[in-house]
Amino acid sequence: MSKKNTFLTNLKVHNCRDDICLSTLTTYGIGGKPLGVIFVNNHQEYIKTLYSISNRVPYRILGKGSNILANDERLDFFIITGKYRIVRIFRDERKIRVFSTSFTELQYFIKLLIDNGISGYEELAGIPATVGGAVFNNAGIKNVEISDFLKKVTFFDRKRKSIRSIEVDKTFFSYRNSFFKQENMNGNMLDLVSFVFEFPSKNITDKNKLKQIYKDTWHKRIITQPINQKSCGSVFKNLSNTPAWKIVSDLGYRGYTVGGAKVSEKHSNFIVNFNNAKFSDVINIIQKIKNDSLKKGINLEEEVEIWK
Ligand SMILES: Cc1cc2nc3c(=O)[nH]c(=O)nc-3n(C[C@H](O)[C@H](O)[C@H](O)COP(=O)(O)OP(=O)(O)OC[C@H]3O[C@@H](n4cnc5c(N)ncnc54)[C@H](O)[C@@H]3O)c2cc1C
Repeated sequence: MSKKNTFLTNLKVHNCRDDICLSTLTTYGIGGKPLGVIFVNNHQEYIKTLYSISNRVPYRILGKGSNILANDERLDFFIITGKYRIVRIFRDERKIRVFSTSFTELQYFIKLLIDNGISGYEELAGIPATVGGAVFNNAGIKNVEISDFLKKVTFFDRKRKSIRSIEVDKTFFSYRNSFFKQENMNGNMLDLVSFVFEFPSKNITDKNKLKQIYKDTWHKRIITQPINQKSCGSVFKNLSNTPAWKIVSDLGYRGYTVGGAKVSEKHSNFIVNFNNAKFSDVINIIQKIKNDSLKKGINLEEEVEIWK
């Protein structure tokens, strides 16, 4: 047993693997070995692990890894991730409340809402996130964001070493951003634990209609996005008046290739890993596009999160 694992065992963390690369845990298929990957199997274990290791070892939480471009060298932190899912639905005459844990897959969550005839998120079909990752980034499409029906967030505050809950509204969120993401960037690390969503009872509708919207949205994605290739979705954030794909395309980058990475011909805001791309291949393309757009006075900002 390695020294590191003995240390974790002393902290009562037993399910840590030190032989796993982030390339197997991210949709990009890129990323080296972190210090270890701690797989939590249920909610109690997640919370116990947070209490055990916070302030003792550096760690990051990983959802589905669908917005991460990770360095393919050694990464100097642990990962906590989980595969369990819990969703509970409570109804009264006026509203429907839905509880979810953070590692629940977003698509499982949405399908459950649809099966219960609850409308709101059916147009988020195809976003390969966990509910936690979606809240952290305020994932969404043009007219729908995960924050639209979010009422309460429960999180672990690393500094205070305690679980806290807060009521949230739209002021906690903006385009692909949240209060929680912002706090983490400011060094006040908050690990998301669970959520309560609230839907007005008027959102109860015909589930077959919702199923059709979900299916049509998926179909639209298949036509417009390279979803069968490894990627992180959109690389750059849209500008308020211009979609990022148009800027990249107008600069002539559609199909541009470095090593195993390429600007998708189907959707120019996707850089796909088509052939064992290295971290540096993708970074190289990102940097070139940013430099060229800056020359035109456009400041493109990454939507993808880069882990070094
Ligand atoms: C094919 C494809 C299509 C996509 N389409 C869209 C789209 O239409 N709209 C959109 O908004 N995004 C889209 N994305 C991007 C991505 O799915 C979202 O950003 C999503 O919210 C990331 O969720 P995740 O669970 O994968 O988080 P990860 O990528 O694993 O993590 C993202 C960030 O969230 C943090 N995080 C995750 N879980 C927690 C937690 N429990 N507590 C604290 N921090 C946490 C991580 O530490 C990291 O900083 C797409 C991606 C792909 C690959």
